[in-house]
Amino acid sequence: TQVQLIRSESLAAIGQLVAGAAHELNNPLSSAYSLTQTTVETIGSWENVKIELRNEVLDDLDFSLREMRRARDIVRSLLDLSRQTQNYMESVNLSAVIDNALRVLHNQYKKDPIVIERNYEEDLPNVQGNFANLGQVFINMIKNAIEALPDRRGTISLTTRYDRLADKVIVQCRDTGAGISSDQLKEIFNPFFTTKPVGKGTGLGLYISHEIIKKHEGSIRVESEKGKGTIFNIEIPRNRE
Ligand code: ADP
Ligand code: MG
Repeated sequence: TQVQLIRSESLAAIGQLVAGAAHELNNPLSSAYSLTQTTVETIGSWENVKIELRNEVLDDLDFSLREMRRARDIVRSLLDLSRQTQNYMESVNLSAVIDNALRVLHNQYKKDPIVIERNYEEDLPNVQGNFANLGQVFINMIKNAIEALPDRRGTISLTTRYDRLADKVIVQCRDTGAGISSDQLKEIFNPFFTTKPVGKGTGLGLYISHEIIKKHEGSIRVESEKGKGTIFNIEIPRNRE
């Protein structure tokens, strides 16, 4: 309808504006960041200054660095989001995408008592998709699962299967983590919604994931129980070419 058309056009315009702004913000942020970092090192080596004064200044600069890192993460995510509009589609195996995501994340969890269970369907049909973008979806999803595990202890199960009737490939990511309350469940796909402390989360991961899955004509569903764990289900149509 007319209203929808106008809305999607203005959304595209906003998308371009955001991408432009993120690009413009990237450079000044990077220079301010490295300048502050150098200043921290310089002041750290000053000897003829009252130690309390020195530490006070260093604390403030540390705070600035943390805030800048947060801004930098947001800017990077927005740039990622704008870049994926131009990406080409190919025939991809979602089990391979998940394996790749696990490889990327391995350093972040290898020291923790986390069990990763993989349950992949043999001869899983491919989907039509972009390997890097789909990778981003599963990296974020598994990272969220890891971060939800109390004391980083628990099980994350990854399942792939083909639903013949729906002609779709289904991925399930299940964790035994903290779970999500029903109030928060309504918000998790909103941009900038995060329950993580400053510097830990941008709240853009699931928003971007949802955008990526929509581009693949797929869907993403979540079920969760506080204290028990969370299940994400992603469905993407089989590649029919
Ligand atoms: P971020 O990870 O930067 O906070 P996301 O968009 O990836 O942003 O996730 C948004 C929020 O959804 C998280 O802050 C968390 O509260 C919740 N969430 C997502 N995945 C899980 C999960 N597996 N278990 C518990 N909470 C989750
Ligand atoms: Mg996340």
